[in-house]
Amino acid sequence: MDDSITLPGADWPVLEPGWVWLCGAGPGDPGLLTLHALNALRQADVVIYDALVDASILDWAPAAEHIYAGKRGGKPSADQRDISLRLVDLSRAGRRVLRLKGGDPFVFGRGGEEAQTLVQHGVPIRIVPGISAGIGGLAYAGIPVTHRDVNQSVTFVTGHDQSGEAPSSLDWRAIAAGSQVIVIYMGMKHVERISGALLDAGRPADEPCAVVTAATTGEQNVLETTLGTMAGDIAASGLEPPAILCVGRSVLMRQALDWQAMMAGHPARDLDPLGRGKPAESA
Ligand code: SAH
Repeated sequence: MDDSITLPGADWPVLEPGWVWLCGAGPGDPGLLTLHALNALRQADVVIYDALVDASILDWAPAAEHIYAGKRGGKPSADQRDISLRLVDLSRAGRRVLRLKGGDPFVFGRGGEEAQTLVQHGVPIRIVPGISAGIGGLAYAGIPVTHRDVNQSVTFVTGHDQSGEAPSSLDWRAIAAGSQVIVIYMGMKHVERISGALLDAGRPADEPCAVVTAATTGEQNVLETTLGTMAGDIAASGLEPPAILCVGRSVLMRQALDWQAMMAGHPARDLDPLGRGKPAESA
């Protein structure tokens, strides 16, 4: 199907037969797709998608074949190579292929590996970044991933390594000392170990933390907690992955910026959660 989008002022690329476009789908809310991803959905004749891609997004490619790649980020997946080679086969069969991955394909999504395999097999590719859960998911919880009064740096960390274990190569002391805000993907399974490592490295037990599950979807849930209580609170809450964990004082900004609560009619809890003084009156 060639149904590329037409908007004034932009030259929208055509997804040609034999090409693979590796696109981010964002964290869930279909409205967070990029226009390039929408353009791909309108033209693809096959879409290979991951577990974290919201099903309603596929409705935007009704004529395409939908193939579920069935892998969840963080789980050891022996089938990664199969997925990449399947993409190669589809390209060689002259299909217009959209490989749709949750969030951003190059952020803890193994998109780099898939792209590399495609290039090694001579398959022409286009990469379309997406909104990553660690940024967009926090924004939907009213948490700015950077905020001038809080952090001049942010560290994105995975809570799993390739074998599904807590990553042993991470230097938690260096992260604890050097990162004002730490955003953890795939952190639920090993939250006790991760929070313990940060506490051991000197981060305060009362440091604000947030756990945002199913961010940007209708099932989004936000748990506000502290580093010392996070693991216990998660266990008690029964919250399930996918979740983004955020460690740092930017979490406090949610008290002012929980815009979803405000849309539902609740006032901000605190207009100045960092105690920096209220903004001057406007003239
Ligand atoms: N490429 C993706 C990350 C894939 S790894 C991205 O850029 O967002 C999978 C992990 O991402 C999940 O375990 C979880 O930590 C996080 N994640 C993805 N979607 C999420 C969502 N809607 N809500 C919360 N966390 C999410």
